[in-house]
Amino acid sequence: MLLPNFDPAPTAVRIHRIGYVSPCRARNCQMRATLVAEKVDTAGRHVRQIELCPLRCQIVIERERNSGLEICDRRNE
Ligand SMILES: [Zn+2]
Repeated sequence: MLLPNFDPAPTAVRIHRIGYVSPCRARNCQMRATLVAEKVDTAGRHVRQIELCPLRCQIVIERERNSGLEICDRRNE
């Protein structure tokens, strides 16, 4: 019997501005987060998210793009 695939491997990262106060989740970063990187799977379902300051967010974007994930930048929407 073929088992359903429950592996939530993310395939895209959406970048949003956040409307709430949160510290940056990057290690050793004291900045306030203004963005959130939300990983989604092929069906567009939420996998996980991380609040980030603009600097760390840019690092995450570069890293995820290099690992083959699609970047959906919605910072200006
Ligand atoms: Zn940060």
